[in-house]
Amino acid sequence: KLANVQEPVQIGAMTLPNRIIMGSMHVGFERLPDGVARLAEFYAERARGGAGLIVTGGAAVLPEGGMGEVYCNVYLDEHIEQLRVITEKVHQANGKIALQLFHAGRYAYKEATGLDPVAPSPLQAPINRWKPRELDASEIELTIAAFAAGAVRAQKAGFDAVEIMGSEGYLINQFLSPVTNHRQDDWGGDFLRRARFGIEVAKRVREAVGPDFPVVFRMSGLDLIPDSTSMEETLQFARMLEDAGVNALNIGIGWHESKVPTISMMVPRGAYVWVARQVKQAVSIPVIASNRINDVRHAEEILREGHCDLVSMARPFLADPQIVAKSVEGRYDEVNTCIACNQACLDHIFDGKVASCLVNPQVGREAEWAIVPAGVRKKVAVVGAGPAGLEAARVLAERGHEVVLFEKQTRIGGQLNYARQVPGKAEFNETLRYYRTQLARLGVEIRLGTEAEADALVAEGFAEVVIATGVVPRVPEIPGRELGHVVMYNEVFEQKAKVGNKVAIVGAGGIACDLSHLLVHNEVISAQTAEYLLSYRIVDEQTIHRLQASKRKVFMLRRGKHVGSGLGKTTRWATLAQLKQRGVEMLTQIEYKRIAPEGVYISVNDEEQLVPADTVIIAAGATPNQSLYHALTNRLPVHLIGGAKEAGELDAKRAILEGAQVGRAI
Ligand code: SF4
Repeated sequence: KLANVQEPVQIGAMTLPNRIIMGSMHVGFERLPDGVARLAEFYAERARGGAGLIVTGGAAVLPEGGMGEVYCNVYLDEHIEQLRVITEKVHQANGKIALQLFHAGRYAYKEATGLDPVAPSPLQAPINRWKPRELDASEIELTIAAFAAGAVRAQKAGFDAVEIMGSEGYLINQFLSPVTNHRQDDWGGDFLRRARFGIEVAKRVREAVGPDFPVVFRMSGLDLIPDSTSMEETLQFARMLEDAGVNALNIGIGWHESKVPTISMMVPRGAYVWVARQVKQAVSIPVIASNRINDVRHAEEILREGHCDLVSMARPFLADPQIVAKSVEGRYDEVNTCIACNQACLDHIFDGKVASCLVNPQVGREAEWAIVPAGVRKKVAVVGAGPAGLEAARVLAERGHEVVLFEKQTRIGGQLNYARQVPGKAEFNETLRYYRTQLARLGVEIRLGTEAEADALVAEGFAEVVIATGVVPRVPEIPGRELGHVVMYNEVFEQKAKVGNKVAIVGAGGIACDLSHLLVHNEVISAQTAEYLLSYRIVDEQTIHRLQASKRKVFMLRRGKHVGSGLGKTTRWATLAQLKQRGVEMLTQIEYKRIAPEGVYISVNDEEQLVPADTVIIAAGATPNQSLYHALTNRLPVHLIGGAKEAGELDAKRAILEGAQVGRAI
């Protein structure tokens, strides 16, 4: 069925067994004491899972272009031995691995390297507090030589290929773009001179590694930066790279400082494949497409339609190292799909932490969290089928325990059922599908619509009980909260409450943001219909905006300063921008006075004002639901996890992590 995915492909002298590449990701294991060994195990597991080729996270070719010791480096000969640990492990697993040659340019952090960042021109990046120093001509020569030396070290360390990092706004991209390259010498000015640095790097790497060693170049297909490289220039650059001896082009989308979301959940699947297609039409070497492709069936379709020659997936290999192997065997429903939330991968990295995965917390603990059969098979009750309970039940059953999962609602999922309704968050459906399939495969007995009671659990002979009973929404002490038009957030998500056209939400955290999205989403015309109407000029853009505007007015209210706290760094800005665009108003640093039939009275700077509302929704946090836990303590061994342990915002990441932990502890 996956004829195109499984068709071997040639990159230079290297033959890959399939066309799915695990794209480069920095996972930060290097900062751990046994970081290289963990990294090696992490890649080896993905090789065993069927990745055609693995590309490592960036390895710095010079100290000033890296991120210090918490990143891989390839600028010294002594790095060769460290890197060899990785290649040996991957080769033992029958995999192939390429080292990515990296220089961050003006994105490098001085606090990590102890050195001034360098760039073609001394222009500060909006996402870095350090201004770069301009490289002089001799330093440029040294930098090119460093890429070539790094490639030779990669070869010596046993890598099967190298990938030159030339996209995402890093150094090579900075030379190419007129936005970041203001030079007027041999390395800047017109397009050819701006392109020269990247082309010289490609040529010198080729010369250094010899004619047969595969060299991939990750180039920017679309910068998503105003006034940056044009598509015409991009295609010309692609042709020049081919002439310089590059064997394949991996197409990156967007710079890190770009204001356009490129990989978050709100980006439609495959939204940028068209860019790879443009490049493919311009060159004859293989072209690799990436960004928001998280299903091998989708990759098959993209390949079948000839948009590219290979597909790169990165985060999907965090979510499920076996994604290719399972897909090739037709076990699609067993794939743990990456939901593009960024919460445990990119958000961790941007916070200076080690990456993991929300739906697969084993990432980074591949060896110590390998599933080991339980010493003694026990009958275990898991109470609550939200994310914490689902993961606990899965791991316990995987280890051989007899598991019964209790859920008082009539469906599994808990608060995942809230999230999946939110526009742009449909990927949560995949997580539910995954658990449904896994629990059925493992023979977990699921008792839906059943409230677990302490006496009954004891009487039934359970050896241990996992309490994942979630949270109880908190009602703040605001006069008027008992009025008929005041409803709780869970009632809205569960369609148990009617919502009018003037809405005030008490609370402005992650749940309130999700609710607002849901409430202002307008189904009058879909994005596809809008595109059709526009393409035939049936209506103009203004009419489309009018049709898409919500008739509902939503206010989010918060005593504190910040809206959307609890949302990840990499997604918060885009979420808030979308809400503002849809007319949601956010009032912060307010005091609640009272709720009245006509709305919510608040005070701002000691001045009272009315927020008109026919519906007031309380989304002001929650408290842990621990009644069953207390009823069972001293009667049975009990384990408290997820929201029942600590109520916070919708925190599926912590919930699944704790489910995974308890599943391994019993
Ligand atoms: Fe995908 Fe989210 Fe896991 Fe990152 S944390 S790999 S985005 S599911």
